[in-house]
Order: sequence, then C-alpha cells, then structure tokens
Amino acid sequence: MTINTKCIHGSTKKYDTTGAVSVPIFQSAVFSYPGVGETTGFDYSRQQNPTREYIEDIIANLENGIGGLAFASGMAAITLTMELFSPGDHIILSDNLYGGSYRLFYQIYTKNNGLSFTLVDAGDISAIEKQITPKTKAIFIETPSNPVMHVTDIAAVSALAKAHDLLVIADNTFLTPYFQKPLDLGVDIVVHSGTKFLGGHNDTLSGFLAWSNPALSDKLRFLHKCTGACLSPFDSWLMIRSIKTLSVRMDRHEENTRRIAEWLSNQPRIRKVYYPGLKTHPQYEISCRQATGFGGVLSFEAESAEAALKILGGVRIIQFGESLGGAESLLTYPVLQTHADIPKEEREAKGITDKLIRLSVGLEDYTDLTNDLDRAINS
Ligand SMILES: *Cc1c(COP(=O)(O)O)cnc(C)c1O
Repeated sequence: MTINTKCIHGSTKKYDTTGAVSVPIFQSAVFSYPGVGETTGFDYSRQQNPTREYIEDIIANLENGIGGLAFASGMAAITLTMELFSPGDHIILSDNLYGGSYRLFYQIYTKNNGLSFTLVDAGDISAIEKQITPKTKAIFIETPSNPVMHVTDIAAVSALAKAHDLLVIADNTFLTPYFQKPLDLGVDIVVHSGTKFLGGHNDTLSGFLAWSNPALSDKLRFLHKCTGACLSPFDSWLMIRSIKTLSVRMDRHEENTRRIAEWLSNQPRIRKVYYPGLKTHPQYEISCRQATGFGGVLSFEAESAEAALKILGGVRIIQFGESLGGAESLLTYPVLQTHADIPKEEREAKGITDKLIRLSVGLEDYTDLTNDLDRAINS
C-alpha cells in the first residue's frame, strides 16, 4: 500500500460492527468487564481506547514502525521519551531545536531530573562523536530544524549511534512521514507534534511517538499508561480525519513553499532565504537523498529588525501567530516567540536574529500569498 492510501486506510483495526466508514468516537472513560476475570481488551481509556488505537496504528503504519502512541501534545510525547533515561544520563542534541524542546531539556530535565545535554552541530558527525561519553545514552535530532532549516544526515547519525549503542530519537514534525521516514533510516523513536502538519488545521493539539525497536514497546507503553498524557477520543478522531488528507495537503504546502522560496530569493529587500528545497541550501543533496520532499516551512531574513516588524504588521491574508503546518499561512517571529527562551548570544550564533521571520506556508493560492508578501515587503 502506498502512503497515499495508508493515509486513508492506515489501520486494519476493527472495533465497530456497523460498517461505519468514519471511525466511531468511543467517548468512554471506562469499559465494563463481561465477567470476573474476563475483559473485552479495554478497561480504562488512559490505557486503551479504541479510537485512539486507530490513530496510533495509523501513525505506526505511516512511519513504517512497529508501534505508535498518541499524546495530548507534542511536548507530552517528547517528555515521555525523556522518562526512558535516569539521573546521570547524557543526551546529545542537534542544535536549532524547537524552543519548547530546548526549554524542557534545559529548564526541567537538567535541574529536576539530573540529565545532562550537549548541543552540537549535527551536520558534523565527528563533532557528535567527540561528545559521546560513557554516560551518553541517546542522540536527539530535529530535521529540518526550527527555524533555520538545517538538515541532519539521519542515516549517518543513526550509524554512529548504533556503533556506540545509543538510541536515536528524531523529531519528524516538519516533514511528516509523507516526506521522510526516519525509522527506515535507522532511528529508534520518531516524535511528532501532531498539532502541525499531521493535524493540518490549526485546531487540535496532539503528539505522537512511533518506534521500530521491539525492546522499546513495553517500556513506552508502560510510561504512556503511567504518566497519562494520552490523546482524547474526540481529538484522536480529529487526527484520523486530518490524516486522510495529509498527502494532498503536503503536496500543496510544498508546491506553494517552493514557489515562495524562489520568489523571496529574488526580492532585493530579502537578505537570505532558508529552505532545504533551494539548490543553494547547504544540505540540499542530503535532503534529496533522505526525504521525498522539502516541506511547507521556510525562514527569511529582512534587511533590518524594523523591516521585519513592518512585514509582520503588513500582511493581511497571512496571519501573525505561533505555529506551523495548518491550512492558514502563518508568520512567526522566532526571537520573540518560539525561541525567546534561548540566550541571546546562543540564538544569534544560530542565525536566529531579530531580522529572521519564519513562514509556514498554508494552502491558500500562491498568487494571493505572494501578493500579500509583496505588499508587506515592498510597499
Ligand atoms: C510544535 C512543535 C513541538 C511541540 O509540539 P506541541 O504539539 O506544541 O506540544 C515539538 N517539535 C516541533 C518541531 C514543533 O514544531
């Protein structure tokens, strides 16, 4: 089955006998037992819920994994992966992480849970290798990264990790399994903010894990059950519904984004455009090798902070807001929003300056979007 069909028929689970084409919402917290010592397979929705199992199965199938879990948000999914580790453990992080992941690792897991982290330029495999110590347990990567769209060679990082017996966790939010399947490239656990492209409508928070390593199944399921940040039946249904159109949406997001990236590259008032689909992107070759598309997010640099603020205030169709991956195009100002918790020097060294704007390209018509940007940039 190709991924286009998997988006629509990605689960073979069948808990309903009416023939309903749309998966029913099993809005029940509790499931009664047929008798003492007997069970239907369901007892309490924090542990199992039929609607949530459909979406978990779909995610596992889309990622070519052996299991999937659904969470109330992307951060809940990422938090759960940290529960695999113990005080004293060390984790290597690709730099340019999502700001919320950075905040979780450095403001909570470092102080309260005794983990330590090292940020490295994950484009440089020998730089990662130099940071491996006997305490290192995992490498956590995000690719393409937020917001400057660095691309990490997933297979190379996975090979290094295997050689040192480390887990690899990859945040696949930006490309989704439609364009990139990290498990096929050797990653152990994929994490998602389903709030973004998987959900696609700026209306539902969700998070997912998918994994390929059988040794992780029991541990992850146990942690999910114990910590309880599971996706509700209704939100699970919304995600099933959203993913039916994932492939169509991703194609349009990407077509719009490629065209806008080229258009922005030709604007004299725009200094720099960050998009892995541009041939001038430093990891263009790696992107072509490991993904089947470049996604729907780009960043660009205005001439000055004033010019950036003028663009943010000048758009009319594109909205100014803090997310990505929805039908509605959104501009984000990382220095004040997603990356505000990262110290200034560290931020600027990564190119996250007060001139940088991130654009999540929605499903609107390309001409309307460029006209909107043209007015905001050039008038
Ligand atoms: C949004 C996002 C997250 C966090 O997900 P939430 O659903 O907002 O909790 C994690 N990683 C990336 C790359 C994101 O864009």
